[in-house]
Amino acid sequence: MGKRVWWVFVLAVLLAGCAVNPVTGDRDLVLMSEQQEIALGASQHSAVLQQYPIYDDPALQAYVDGIGQAIVAQSHRSNLPFTFSVVDSADINAFALPGGYIYITRGIMAYLNSEAELAGVLGHEVGHVTARHGVRQQSAQGVTGVLGAVLAASTDGAYNDVISAGSQALVSGYGRSHELEADRLGAEYLANTGRNPERMIDVVRVLKDQELFDLELAALEGREPRRYHALFATHPDNDKRLQEVIRAANRFVAGATDDGRDRYLDMIDGMVFGESEAQGIIRNNAFYHLPMDLTVRAADGWTIQNSPTRLLFVNADQTGVMQLTARALGDATSARAVQQELVGAPVSGREVRVNGMRGYESRITLPKTPWNQPGPALVTTLIREDQAFTFLAASQSDAQLGRLIPEVRRMVGSLNRLDAAGRAQARARRLSLQRVTGNQSIQSLADTDALGQLAVQRLRLLNGLYPDREPAARQLIKVVR
Ligand SMILES: [Zn+2]
Repeated sequence: MGKRVWWVFVLAVLLAGCAVNPVTGDRDLVLMSEQQEIALGASQHSAVLQQYPIYDDPALQAYVDGIGQAIVAQSHRSNLPFTFSVVDSADINAFALPGGYIYITRGIMAYLNSEAELAGVLGHEVGHVTARHGVRQQSAQGVTGVLGAVLAASTDGAYNDVISAGSQALVSGYGRSHELEADRLGAEYLANTGRNPERMIDVVRVLKDQELFDLELAALEGREPRRYHALFATHPDNDKRLQEVIRAANRFVAGATDDGRDRYLDMIDGMVFGESEAQGIIRNNAFYHLPMDLTVRAADGWTIQNSPTRLLFVNADQTGVMQLTARALGDATSARAVQQELVGAPVSGREVRVNGMRGYESRITLPKTPWNQPGPALVTTLIREDQAFTFLAASQSDAQLGRLIPEVRRMVGSLNRLDAAGRAQARARRLSLQRVTGNQSIQSLADTDALGQLAVQRLRLLNGLYPDREPAARQLIKVVR
């Protein structure tokens, strides 16, 4: 084969790799066509929904989709078929996948105070898609299609345990220049849909206030603070670059604008706040799951983290990790048989009995532990009717696991059905609207039972009154019940 053919081949590759950016009109080096981009997003959409299930409120979904589609219609890629999903997570987060898949958590929606702020969040995410930030990032990394990498590249919130439980790695979106561009586009889309682009600054303020609040909370709990939208090191009120790009959108505003505050509050009245019944609730170091009729308590010094596929227990010095998973019994006839299926090898240990459930406990060696090396584990499977619950407790050495076994057995022994008190604990909290009467202060409205530590500050956060403002007379505010 001669040189000439080789050159033709290189030229073809370069042409395919150069796409016109829908926002800037410039040519980007994007190694992906629009069809590939849509296919990529579609393939990752179902994986996202496993981690972030859809929030079960069709009216709210339709409302968010309606606002999102109106933004899309005025955007740089109105031809792209966008989907908007409200996901059942208390995380304060919104994110986008290439191809037009936009997600917003009910967690962040609780803190927004108007339709315009919601449109600001959606517009920002639409901006990431129209400017092809995710695609550019994935092209730069090579198209791996690994969900973790995608979420890492496309999230705006603070994931601390969703992608890899136990790790404290925080993710801070796309980098300052892409975030600023998404804010600029979000503001432009707000203006295009007849809203005040300044609401984009309010959205950034909502995130910044979360960060400031977490500083307060972290000091109280003696831990490192989390960071939301970490790229905004300065407060949005003092952020000149942010204000510049937002104000530039003012030229698009046609006339008077309605923020849609009452409409928005009405839509989120009754929305689940914090953990949901569907995913189970952690209170006072115990886990309560109403649909599964199940409770389990962490031993002293252990904390519980919940994810859609498992519960994770971690001890204070992180020398022990235990996960609890549930599955249908299927064809298996005993706890030992379930365990052998899970482990993929014969196990040998002892029969156990826990709160009327038959079970089996054995020691195994895991080829890979959370410490990225082989290590010992205690595995206990309990059978209740057609369900099998399996605890897998791992440590770094036999000696360490030996020390942890009494605590592990106590936690296994706490697995039980819900009693009346447990059923009450398993109920989710919900947002409720209340009109401030007389000279009611935020102090008198903050329910410490429902909001916990720093209840007054939490109520302020919910209502855009952080850090020290009081509600106006007759103001409609969100409370938690
Ligand atoms: Zn962003």
